[in-house]
Amino acid sequence: MKKEFAVIGLGRFGSSLCRELCMEGMDVLAIDLDEDKVNEFRNIASYAVIADSTDETTLKELGINNIDHVIVSIGENIQASILTTVILTELGVKKITVKAQNDYHEKILKKLGAHQVVHPERDMGRRIAHSIISNNILDYLELSEEHSIIEVIAGNKMINKTLVDLEIRAKYNCNVVAIKRNNTINVSPAADLQIEKNDILIVIGADKDLSRFEKRLVIDDE
Ligand code: ATP
Repeated sequence: MKKEFAVIGLGRFGSSLCRELCMEGMDVLAIDLDEDKVNEFRNIASYAVIADSTDETTLKELGINNIDHVIVSIGENIQASILTTVILTELGVKKITVKAQNDYHEKILKKLGAHQVVHPERDMGRRIAHSIISNNILDYLELSEEHSIIEVIAGNKMINKTLVDLEIRAKYNCNVVAIKRNNTINVSPAADLQIEKNDILIVIGADKDLSRFEKRLVIDDE
């Protein structure tokens, strides 16, 4: 059966998420207090409803507890975001993702039982910061508070060397999980694979270790 989603709050983040889910052919219930915003989604979402998500009865009437995954994207009105999350957890919604406005908001949402808390502005800020630091850093994805995955173009110091020669695991405590070359991707590359110019390495590790790896083998090298 097709998975059903609901997006509550059609600001910039919520509306972009809602559009993308609809484009991927998902069933989406779009909810917002604002009539104009809801009207924008009448022909896009499966259902678009003007409703106040802090009103438990309304959410029940909308059958929100039967929806597989509800995303709360109310940023500025933290009180409404918190109250909505409480109602959704009490109604037993299977998966609740909430957009947090700041770290304090994130902590509360987690305590209240949100299954996933996203922080798009902070995460995007971090990703962009990494790509600004070095042209060789293509992407940066936070896995936890202390671990990330980075995607880097092989620096000059790496070329014609193997992973063993570079001692990436021994020296930097990082793991190269894949190497992209031309249009192929080599997952779990062999330790004796020789790195070539334009190879893209996907590396996982603790942030402090990745930072050392970037400084020694990626940034210093440009
Ligand atoms: P953005 O995602 O645009 O960067 P934001 O996360 O700060 O910004 P807001 O402008 O705070 O977003 O609100 C997102 C949407 O949530 C708005 O369209 C607003 O009308 C809607 N909204 C706020 N409170 C409620 C509520 N109680 N019930 C339903 N929708 C709400």
